[in-house]
Amino acid sequence: MPLTGLQIYKLLPQTNCKECGSPTCLAFAMKLAAKQAELTACPYVSETSKSQLESASSPPIRLITLAGDGTKLEVGNETVMFRHEKTFYHKPGIFIRLKDSQDLESIRAGAATASAYSVDYVGIKLGVDGFAVESVSGDRARFAAAVGAVAAAKNPLILMAADPAVLAEGAKVVAGTRPLLYAADETNWQQMAEVAKSTKAPLAVKAESLEKLADLTEKLQKAGVEDLVLDPLARGSSASLTILTQIRRLALKKNYRPLGYPVMVFPGEAEGVDEAVMAAQQIAKYAGFVVINSFDPAVLYPLLVLRENLYTDPQKPIQVQPGLFEINAPTADAPVMVTTNFSITYFAVNNEVEGAGWPAWLIVTDADGMSVLTAWAAGKLDSDRIVKAIKACSIESKINHKRLIIPGQVAILSGELEEGLEGWEIMVGPKEAVDIPAYLKAAWKH
Ligand code: SF4
Repeated sequence: MPLTGLQIYKLLPQTNCKECGSPTCLAFAMKLAAKQAELTACPYVSETSKSQLESASSPPIRLITLAGDGTKLEVGNETVMFRHEKTFYHKPGIFIRLKDSQDLESIRAGAATASAYSVDYVGIKLGVDGFAVESVSGDRARFAAAVGAVAAAKNPLILMAADPAVLAEGAKVVAGTRPLLYAADETNWQQMAEVAKSTKAPLAVKAESLEKLADLTEKLQKAGVEDLVLDPLARGSSASLTILTQIRRLALKKNYRPLGYPVMVFPGEAEGVDEAVMAAQQIAKYAGFVVINSFDPAVLYPLLVLRENLYTDPQKPIQVQPGLFEINAPTADAPVMVTTNFSITYFAVNNEVEGAGWPAWLIVTDADGMSVLTAWAAGKLDSDRIVKAIKACSIESKINHKRLIIPGQVAILSGELEEGLEGWEIMVGPKEAVDIPAYLKAAWKH
């Protein structure tokens, strides 16, 4: 059972020296109990206390790190069941499955194409995390060659083989990186443990019940393998939701160490459910590694966007840097518009204007990352802030007019702005970004 804040406090030095960043030892103890601090932050804990505090200080879901050639992926260390309770920290890795039954050239080309896939979503680059290379042939040399072909893409890898000897052969090819080995089961866990220890790689564990899974992880821990990943073999939609939720609850609410590891899933193996739908469910609840059967941007893009939205801090909106942005190389007679620094708002405006081919100046105000109407309601977008932003970016020295287009949602600010910006004409633009091109065509006269 996890220790309470008061139990932890009794094991701390109780000097309130503040070196851990907390104002008192009690405050630090409370943070430790809530898994919001690391014990290493206090340099004065005695060795005896350290061992007693281990269960309170180590994360309830172990952090697992995979590394490719110069690339890295971290999964785990989650502390809450629901995003709104705090935040989710480490996005589940999305891996594309490749099999050694394919010819080498198509494996290499497939990995290169998927690895190069990159899309821009509100200023964030999204793409595939890595590849799961599966031994279908059972042949060591063939598997090793397939791993070598995929490794050229440099992403983190999952190596999949039923035979520990085959797995070891594949791991040799990527020595110096840190792949995930898949998988130990009741029949082979001892040999798999040896492969994991000799390669210093994390090991996936699979079993059909939580009891068997927990039994295996305890055996592997005793055998010296600490970095584990769980595959509960729950392939159907309902089973996956139930089992993954149980694992998460047991790890977080009961501090049940044998199941305190990230979970991996194979959404393409669910019968009667579309792979993308299944993957979406599992990204939301509670996969750590998602292995997709094939590379298809139409499947991948919505999953990446979903993941991005779930794994951002709900208390910190995605923001762009406030300032003056140039769209389509604006000249002195180009329109001047104003908006807020909420990423989605900025990109909506920018994309509409840019896509329509309008040269324009876009002044982005600092509204703590809120959208226009929210910022206005919260007092983060008012005439004073807009006036300040216009003066700060020296737009007047770049244009030959004094006309400012404000978002239709804050038409109410036009009077105050005309007072604050002497000689300026305030034009009220549309409420929706999508209507900006038509508005400019009708209202902007050179
Ligand atoms: Fe207490 Fe340790 Fe924090 Fe100092 S560093 S306040 S002793 S918990």
